[in-house]
Amino acid sequence: MNAPLSSELLKQHLIDPEICIRCNTCEETCPIDAITHDGRNYVVNAEICNGCMACVPPCPTGSIDNWRLVARGDAYSLDEQFSWDELPAEKPVAVDARATDAPAPDAVAAQPAEDAPAAVPVAPGAIVPPWSAAHPYVNLYSHKTPVEATVVGNYRVTDADTDSDIHHIVLDFGQLPFPVLEGQSIGVLPPGADAQGRAHHARQYSLASPRNGERPGYNNLSITVKRVTQTHDGSPVNGVCSNYLCDLAKGDTVRVIGPFGNTFLMPNHPRANLMMICTGTGAAPMRAMTEHCRRRIAEGELGELMLFFGARTERELPYFGPLMKLPRDFIDINLALSREPERPRRYVQDLMRERAADVLRLLTQGDTYVYVCGLKGMESGVLQALQDIVAEAGHDWPGLADRLRREGRLHLETY
Ligand code: NAP
Repeated sequence: MNAPLSSELLKQHLIDPEICIRCNTCEETCPIDAITHDGRNYVVNAEICNGCMACVPPCPTGSIDNWRLVARGDAYSLDEQFSWDELPAEKPVAVDARATDAPAPDAVAAQPAEDAPAAVPVAPGAIVPPWSAAHPYVNLYSHKTPVEATVVGNYRVTDADTDSDIHHIVLDFGQLPFPVLEGQSIGVLPPGADAQGRAHHARQYSLASPRNGERPGYNNLSITVKRVTQTHDGSPVNGVCSNYLCDLAKGDTVRVIGPFGNTFLMPNHPRANLMMICTGTGAAPMRAMTEHCRRRIAEGELGELMLFFGARTERELPYFGPLMKLPRDFIDINLALSREPERPRRYVQDLMRERAADVLRLLTQGDTYVYVCGLKGMESGVLQALQDIVAEAGHDWPGLADRLRREGRLHLETY
């Protein structure tokens, strides 16, 4: 149950629908499945939530960290939460419902309930950034105060004769501040309304460009967008935001919120190694990090870069051409192609196993940072491959995994 203040009062955990970017991180993190969602909102079940706080640090926007003091019998139901466009104001709580010895709300906000499990299962990815990460700006622009960006480029980055219509879209912020770091994301507010007449919520996209701009020294950034035309099970659907973005022309304007994200960030210190594992459009943050490193080659203090990149075919792999032009002594590129005619199906985790010796060498160095981004389904396969590679070499995987998480060296972003 949600953290009880007394038998009558409840500190109810709620998610702010105005700030939430529907990234699913909270639902994935919750160890007891108290968080769920519909097509509109992410909500917390007061019957299940125990106030353990596991979901709070990973939330990229802070929308998760909202609490209302309510009489237990008046707790907001799931249906009420699904219908909200904004959080309700604090309700006055009947005086006779307050326990005389109840702690002040703020005093209990971060405390687990008495009936919370003794130890919250640790989320698989780190919830802290690398020690040397630059400090990110987050939430500079919200749904109520979006910033307008101008489209200065919109290019298809997969072959025209394939089904994967993936675009590289460049947005310019003119004189308005929008400072970002590689690994952060932005929210795009598509115009129009849903079937219930409510404004569409924001869609989240990872940055594909480095901190100093898609074009160095310019106040612009890029994102990687796949046009959605069918659901995961193949039924036709018109992705609201992806179609809007892929159809934009140069000079059009877009409403943007963010930036978001304060943990999936790259190390800033010399000679740190990056192991990047991605599928499809999950390549966006890897492009940003790789490009940041490429612009620093002349400084001569780079560590190793190792990339595992999965796509159906070479022609459907976003940025294939530019990627293959990168010097081999700058980045170790491993392409896992799953539907290339007359070639066996390969996933990123298969290639990691083939390169086990180098993966192990990097993983067991204290200065290696691992980033995983892309399809949800890859996460378990990649973690299993890491575990097997380490364990088969006689090393302690649970110990190493725990260290990687605590030191902000294993980051997962999958949808
Ligand atoms: P996709 O084309 O559907 O798949 C890319 C590759 O991953 C294919 O070769 C696919 O193989 C393979 N794959 C499928 N299941 C896998 C598994 N269990 N383990 C390893 N590989 C697997 O990818 P996409 O449509 O571009 O999707 C990318 C994902 O990244 C989306 O979920 C998106 O939300 C997410 N993402 C996007 C951004 C962004 O900024 N745009 C940022 C972060 C994350 P087969 O299909 O042949 O089996």
